[in-house]
Amino acid sequence: MPKTSAYAAHAAKSPLAPFSFDRRDPREFDVVIDIKFCGICHSDIHQARDEWGGSVFPMVPGHEIAGVVSTVGSKVTKFRAGDAVGVGCFVDSCRTCPECQAGIEQYCATRPVFTYNSQEKDGTPTMGGYSERVVVDENYVLRIPANLPLDASAPLLCAGITLYSPLRHWNAGPGPGQRKHVAIIGLGGLGHMGVKLAHAMGAEVTVLSQSTKKQADARRLGADRFFAMSEPETFTGLARSFDLIINTVSAELDWNAYLGMLKIDGAMVVVGIPDKPIPVGAFPLVGGRRSLAGSMIGGIRETQEMLDFCGEHNITSDVETIAIQQVNEAYERILRSDVRYRFVIDMATLKSA
Ligand code: NAP
Ligand code: ZN
Ligand code: ZN
Repeated sequence: MPKTSAYAAHAAKSPLAPFSFDRRDPREFDVVIDIKFCGICHSDIHQARDEWGGSVFPMVPGHEIAGVVSTVGSKVTKFRAGDAVGVGCFVDSCRTCPECQAGIEQYCATRPVFTYNSQEKDGTPTMGGYSERVVVDENYVLRIPANLPLDASAPLLCAGITLYSPLRHWNAGPGPGQRKHVAIIGLGGLGHMGVKLAHAMGAEVTVLSQSTKKQADARRLGADRFFAMSEPETFTGLARSFDLIINTVSAELDWNAYLGMLKIDGAMVVVGIPDKPIPVGAFPLVGGRRSLAGSMIGGIRETQEMLDFCGEHNITSDVETIAIQQVNEAYERILRSDVRYRFVIDMATLKSA
């Protein structure tokens, strides 16, 4: 395999810069993918800047990978050259624990092999999608529906599944026994996918954003209601309003105030990952038989289900496509919530790096 060009963070405080490294030659069950586009997830920034601790450098981030199969190993049956495919947050898992057997490999008992900032089973550091190609076992590769463009599909591989999975698990929708009133906190990469998906599932969707700036966008994306949380009376006005709240924000929030917006038996699901513990009082929980839960991406089977759902409903991400040379500037803009709604790197621009 020729050297693979990429962009990498070399240390927690350094900007990303050109880098090249070796990918393994394809094994029997491997798929070699020419990466066409890679989304920029806020988790890339958390890890490239070592905000969660334990980051390993050099790090090639990127786990919203969309590309085309170039070659396959001799025993691959699921894919062939020319297929449009995706790779999400993990590229392997133990395959034997109860979670892997149940198709929820993201919760693998020995942790999945994450797409970057992790190690293959043989100890090789994994390198992510800000690169020209990736080699992945066929069981961890997803099929992108033919009617969806690759650039706007890339963010489905993390942002899409991270919202689809809890919306399904907590049963969002209009039917009897379903959670009809759904609120999404934070209209960013994850949040805007949550609005589109919950709307397509038939839920009544409310966006809780910091300011009124994104109000018109929220409606266009499918939200029924929008509130700016900068207005304190919003919290009292929305007491006991929602069956399900999904929180995509990683900044500090008044968690107890948000819990108060849940109806009796409502659930608040944490998907945004702050680097500090979450301060929650017992009263907002016990005083409404409410649940506070978390959710991480989704398994391979459910990720394929999500992609097929997106294909049927023509759902993709709203993207701003950039050259790889703009990645550091894009990180700063994400931190200012100045992206509508996901940056996607055009990997063809690596050639001019
Ligand atoms: P993002 O695009 O930056 O969106 C985050 C949104 O949070 C912003 O657009 C903004 O929305 C809101 N926000 C930002 N700063 C805020 C503040 N100080 N107070 C209140 N709200 C604020 O990020 P993302 O890619 O969607 O990722 C969000 C989080 O989810 C990150 O922590 C990421 O690591 C995590 N994540 C988790 C999983 C998982 O499996 N659980 C998967 C992927 C990512 P408004 O402008 O509307 O307020
Ligand atoms: Zn992500
Ligand atoms: Zn496992």
